[in-house]
Amino acid sequence: MKILEGKIVIITGASRGIGMGIARIFAEHGANVAFTYSSSEAPALELEKELNSIGVKAKAYKSNAASFKDSEDLIAKVLEDFGGIDVLINNAGITKDKLLMRMGEDDFDKVIEINLKSVFNMTKAVQRTMLKQRKGSIINMSSVVGVKGNAGQANYAASKAGILGFTKSVALELGSRNIRCNAIAPGFIETEMTDKLDEETVQGWREAIPLKRGGTPEDVANACLFLASDLSAYVTGQVLNVDGGMLT
Ligand code: NAP
Repeated sequence: MKILEGKIVIITGASRGIGMGIARIFAEHGANVAFTYSSSEAPALELEKELNSIGVKAKAYKSNAASFKDSEDLIAKVLEDFGGIDVLINNAGITKDKLLMRMGEDDFDKVIEINLKSVFNMTKAVQRTMLKQRKGSIINMSSVVGVKGNAGQANYAASKAGILGFTKSVALELGSRNIRCNAIAPGFIETEMTDKLDEETVQGWREAIPLKRGGTPEDVANACLFLASDLSAYVTGQVLNVDGGMLT
């Protein structure tokens, strides 16, 4: 028996990176996967085809996670297409790194809207369905940077720290209805997001990590698998660091 057999999962931002890794691993474990992208249509449609070919139902949706209306419309469409939602993974995120001295209002607002407000938009939109089912798992992608801060990422750190407070509050509000809400705090995961960094900085990160390597999307996806499945039935309001020991 596959661990997510027949579960319906929605993942924001799965056209590449960590989201794509989650979609693949969840499909391998039997989940039907609805996922979003912002602009990368070709890889999203390619992923949709790939997942359908392994025998699960998968569908890509273009949807801006920062938009409340888009999120409501998306959930309505997914319910129509899939007939329910068991797991929500709020993964979409961006960076606009700058020292505070150079950070403009738009750099701050964009990051907060896409990284943090999106989590409110999607959780709010899915809440009614999960309440009716009296079951659900919500997983929010934070970051080690949200726990400890990082120079040049005040906007990003604020968005990821905000996700932690939101996660714990939702866990307290919805726990009595058997809806769990947890966060993952990845460390340095090698994706297009970290490709922007120069090789010297990347090498510095790798050296500083106790496990001596950057993480992969699969490392994060496996932690999501645990939090999405009934293996974590008694876990809520937690932050799981997937960071090779970085925060130890
Ligand atoms: P990535 O490779 O840059 O992928 C980001 C994904 O988010 C893409 O699928 C992108 O879609 C989507 N996206 C961006 N803006 C969106 C919007 N407004 N609406 C819907 N989707 C949107 O990033 P990643 O490294 O996989 O990161 C995924 C998550 O993990 C993010 O929340 C990030 O902050 C977090 N994280 C990453 C690391 C790391 O080291 N990589 C560490 C800690 C936390 P398009 O392709 O269409 O643009």
